[in-house]
Order: sequence, then structure tokens, then C-alpha cells
Amino acid sequence: MRQSKLFTKTRREAPADEVSKNAELLIRGGFIHKEMAGVYSYLPLGLRTLRKIENIIREEMNAVGGQEVLMSSFQPKENWEKTGRWESMDDLYKVTDSSGRVVALGPTHEEIVVPILKNYVSSHKDFPLSIYQIQNKFRMELRAKSGILRGREFVMKDMYSFHTSKDDFEKFYNKMKEVYKTIFARVGIGHLTYMAFASGGTFSKYSHEFQTITPLGEDTIYIDEASGTALNKEVFNDEILNQLGLVKEKLIEQKAIEVGNIFDLKTKYSKPFDLSYVDEKGEKHIVLMGCYGIGVGRLLGTVVEVLADDKGIIWPESIAPFAVHLLALGDDTEIEKEADKVYESLKRNKIEVLFDDRGEISPGEKFADADLLGIPYRAVVSSRSIKEGGIELKKRTEEKGKIVSLEELLKILTR
Ligand code: ATP
Ligand code: MG
Repeated sequence: MRQSKLFTKTRREAPADEVSKNAELLIRGGFIHKEMAGVYSYLPLGLRTLRKIENIIREEMNAVGGQEVLMSSFQPKENWEKTGRWESMDDLYKVTDSSGRVVALGPTHEEIVVPILKNYVSSHKDFPLSIYQIQNKFRMELRAKSGILRGREFVMKDMYSFHTSKDDFEKFYNKMKEVYKTIFARVGIGHLTYMAFASGGTFSKYSHEFQTITPLGEDTIYIDEASGTALNKEVFNDEILNQLGLVKEKLIEQKAIEVGNIFDLKTKYSKPFDLSYVDEKGEKHIVLMGCYGIGVGRLLGTVVEVLADDKGIIWPESIAPFAVHLLALGDDTEIEKEADKVYESLKRNKIEVLFDDRGEISPGEKFADADLLGIPYRAVVSSRSIKEGGIELKKRTEEKGKIVSLEELLKILTR
């Protein structure tokens, strides 16, 4: 894509009321636009990255047999009354229309997915089953000061699994632990992300959170480096340490962001709706459930928080909006012609390229924009690079570039 055609522009300053690093950089780069506290729109660059993260998650969900759906955001009040959450969930948005009807604006989808399934499954042969979606959630978050890490409207992947035995549930749950590790590694923050034990609330002994360490995190976790085991501070007590085989003195305290979590729901949501099946002997049982969330927008924001440097964003190759940022420096025709040639061959080779073809922008400004946007490779065509016989290629994470030929450039980028 030609940068001269991109409707968004970079900015030197973020809005004065924006205090978080992720939103500041994403707004300055034109990835997102702030609508109000905790509410952001995704613009072309931001959406490209969001879609790449979604697709990594989608691939991994499909690989474990997940069936994708897209459930409604408007949810019947009666469903929420049935589970008791109409009253108990503090962050639930309750919307009244002009006819006086009141509905919930979905913060999660147990109250929708279970009644849907009830229409279709009833035999033990229908299980196991897993259903997921990638969809906008709404929550009345009181503190919405962390940019896209804590939105009032935000994109989440939520999967729900359904089983006829505890064994079958546990097998799937353990598989999902590995799937989650794979996802965070593919997105580029595997080395900073720990699976942490957390309290499962009233219905389960444990849940597992996936926590990415950063000083700005809202959560505190304790890590045992030797075994790689971690636990949330909220569950920290001697009994739990004993159960996990951990020694207090060896644990390191870290701040972290919860990018995902997995829960054993048992029959908490299947029971109120009587989601049941008939076994081989003709006996009726309530279905067992698990749920598996990932904050997709939060994950994007987390990558920005933990990988950025003082010049801007650093995208991992797997989720970068473009593979390479091509810069034409100076506006004489020879440079223009050469840069155009490079641009066309990158496109022909299906390499995603953002081409800074803007005239009347100084080299310094183009370099600063490239650093801010954080595309993994920067390829510069200038009078100097032409004189030295090629294109100056530099990784976003490197200080110095090197001159490469067009063939070499294509080879490096199609690796
Ligand atoms: P938190 O403790 O951070 O509020 P949660 O326990 O409420 O999270 P879940 O309801 O389990 O979160 O949602 C699943 C995932 O969605 C979380 O692991 C997190 O990554 C993401 N998430 C939750 N709330 C938000 C939010 N307000 N904005 C962005 N992402 C969120
Ligand atoms: Mg919450």
C-alpha cells in the first residue's frame, strides 16, 4: 500500500488524557482512534494487525476442533436472570430501548451459547463439542485508563467446551493449556508469558491465567523460575504453595497483564438451562463445561507495551501490519523510479509492503515514522543506496542497515 493514499497520519502527540503507553503509541501511529474512555476504533493499520492475531487464534481453535460462530451482542434479560447474573454481575451493561424493553449488552456468552446448544444436542453421541467466536464484548469497567488493555468495548475470543465426563473435560482442558502457549508464542510474547494458577471462584479449585510480565501490569504473580510455575498473588497461601510443590523463598514477584484464561465451569451454566444428554443406558445427566478466553485487543496492546522501545512500536513478524516498510528518500525521478520498481516487485512476490512514497516529507520524518509504526523491516531507496548498488535494509530492532540487491531483498522477505 502507498502511504500517500493511507488516510491516517502519524502524530507527534497522543491525546492529553491518554496515559497508557499502548494507546499513546497506537494513536500516534494511526492504528486506533479513541472515541471515549475505554472505547477505541481500529483503523487500517490497527485492523491489519488485529486480523493477524485473530487468524492465529482461529487456526489454533480450528485445529482442536472448535466450531466458529458469531453470537449476538444483545442478550435476553431472562437468560441472565436464570443464571442469577442479571443482579450479580456489576459490569453488565443494561440497555433500555424506547419501547421500555431491557436487554443485556454481552460481556460474555454463557447465557447465549448454552440455550443455543439446547436446541441441537441431547445424546451422549453429540459430545464432546467446542464452540468459539471472536467478537466485541461490553463491560462497564470502572478503571478504563489502560488504553486497549481494559476497554469498555473490546474484542475477545471466547470458546466454550461441552463434555459428558470429567476425564474428557480434563483431557481437553490440558490440551488447551498447550494451545494457549502456542498462541502466545506465535504472537511473539511467549518468552514473557507464564501460565499462572489462579483461584477458580466458588465453582472450581483452580483456573489458569496466561500472564505477560511487564511493570505496567495490573496483576501480581509469583514465578518459580526453575519449574516455570507461576501463581496469582490473589491465591497465594501456604496451603496452595504446598499443593503446587513451591517454596516461598524461591519465588520472584512480577507485575503482569492477563492476556487469557481458562476455566473449569462444571455445571454452573448448563444446570440453570438444563443442558443435558442421555447416556447409553438412557439416563439423563447435566453437561460439563469449560470456557477459554483471550483478550484479542488486549493482546495487541500487550505486544505494544512489552516490545516497544523509546522510538515506537516493534511488531513481531507474525502480526505486523506489513512485512516491510519501503522508504523513498528524496524526490528526484531516479529515486522515484527505482523505489517504484522495488515496490512493484515486492507486490508481485506477495510481500506485504507499506511504501512511503510521500513527497515533501524529510528523510528524518520518514525515519521517525518508520520507527513509530514498527514494521519489522525498513528498506530505503536513496541516492546513496543507488550509488552503493541497491537498497538499504534494516531490521526495526537493529541500529545499522546493510546494502542488499533487489534479489537479496526478496529472498530475505520470502523466507
Ligand atoms: P480482568 O481480571 O482483567 O478484568 P476477567 O477475569 O474479567 O479479566 P474474562 O472475563 O475471563 O476476564 O475475559 C477473558 C479475557 O478477556 C481476559 O483474560 C482478558 O485478556 C480479556 N479482557 C477481560 N476484560 C477486558 C477488558 N475490559 N478489556 C480488554 N480485554 C479484556
Ligand atoms: Mg474483569
